[in-house]
Amino acid sequence: MLRLTDTRTRQVEDIVPASAGALSVYACGPTVYRDAHVGNLRTFLLTDLIRRIGEYHGLRVTVAQNITDVGHMADDRGLAEGGEDKLLSQSRAENRSALDVARHYETAYFTDLDRLGIRPADIAPRASESIDLMINLIGQLIDKGHAYVGGDGSVYFDAQSISDYGALSGNRLDQLRPGHRFTVEEDPEASGRKRFHADWALWKSAGTTRTQLVWETPWGLGFPGWHIECSAMSLHHLGPTIDIHTGGIDLRFPHHEDEKAQSDAVVGHEVVRHWVHAEHLLFDGRKMAKSTGNVVLVSDVIDRGFDPLALRLCFLEHHYRQQMNLTWEAIGAAQLTLDRWRSKVAAWAEEPSAPMDDPTRHEVVAAFDDDLDTPRAIRALRRLERDESVPAGSRFETFAHLDRLLGIDLARNVGRPPVVVDLPAGAQELLAARDAARAAKQWSDSDRLRDELAALGVTVTDTKDGQQWSM
Ligand SMILES: [Zn+2]
Repeated sequence: MLRLTDTRTRQVEDIVPASAGALSVYACGPTVYRDAHVGNLRTFLLTDLIRRIGEYHGLRVTVAQNITDVGHMADDRGLAEGGEDKLLSQSRAENRSALDVARHYETAYFTDLDRLGIRPADIAPRASESIDLMINLIGQLIDKGHAYVGGDGSVYFDAQSISDYGALSGNRLDQLRPGHRFTVEEDPEASGRKRFHADWALWKSAGTTRTQLVWETPWGLGFPGWHIECSAMSLHHLGPTIDIHTGGIDLRFPHHEDEKAQSDAVVGHEVVRHWVHAEHLLFDGRKMAKSTGNVVLVSDVIDRGFDPLALRLCFLEHHYRQQMNLTWEAIGAAQLTLDRWRSKVAAWAEEPSAPMDDPTRHEVVAAFDDDLDTPRAIRALRRLERDESVPAGSRFETFAHLDRLLGIDLARNVGRPPVVVDLPAGAQELLAARDAARAAKQWSDSDRLRDELAALGVTVTDTKDGQQWSM
């Protein structure tokens, strides 16, 4: 049985679907105003891994994921309602309509998913095409006394109307006072727009300046808040009980806290049974942020000559709840492992067939079940790779079978002629000498030999399996 860390209970929980045999998953999707970076994609991989292990166990998995093409403001961190819609500012920067921008980056998003072996959601609604659902939901929240029209014509959620606000993030309403934890330039209460500092906008009045991405409603011309779209779409497409809700850890507050409040208030019970969040990805030790130029895209990985599935393997070597520091060296090392595994799988496939190695299969499945412990799964495969007591045909069957969970196309080279790369003259001796130097912990000799190999065009990478080379 699959177990996952639930952000709300802060414990590893058994995942027991509400409907036997079916697993419903809602994944917060991309805001399509720029390319997703590899940190975003690591979060989307989390949902893919849940889907794969669920289907392995015979569950019918349904994933719904929204496409945010309206309503995500530049400042979504704190309680400030100001800022500009991310789509509109990008539309100005690119000098084309907001929807042109959105469709461009939506296509790029699905291309990136495909490159990383992440299956797209079964249901992928766009926010801009789900406005009626949101208006309907907001109307219900007003009728039930959980929302009100503010002094500025926007509709706000009444945070004090529910008892468990903060259950997900640990924030308490009294901690969220402006100027305390989240600094806002103006005191929203003073302006009379909303009644209470922690209330948030479900629907925003268009005012006089905004002309794109606006809709007519019972409360006037305006546009939806970001949080309401996920409540509206998840309830409509998956129903009032959702087994798992995924997202990046930065979405826990306010986005998921607010979504939970809205959905639970309208339905009358807890909609999401388990909240699961992926940790941040660092690159070269720093947060990935456009503002500092520290952003890596899948296209950058490809431009450097790597297979995007090497990036996927690199992610699998770290636990989803572990803050991971990605480097080009780590991707390079994963590429070497992937190349080696694919050529070994192809070679093993030539040998007489043999039954799967059950201990390894059980170990890998158990690792996935245990809160998606993918590093443990990879270690089990490394052990099997080296275990000469297991027949080659059996190792082929096991690797090929378990690729259903890993998704790194391990059988790619089966039936193809092996790629033979010859080392330049003298390189084999240098590699052997470097191996010996490392065994003797003579690091300066090892570094010097690496440089000599580089001069011959041979790149050496030190991995868990010893030094590996590529041309
Ligand atoms: Zn969301």
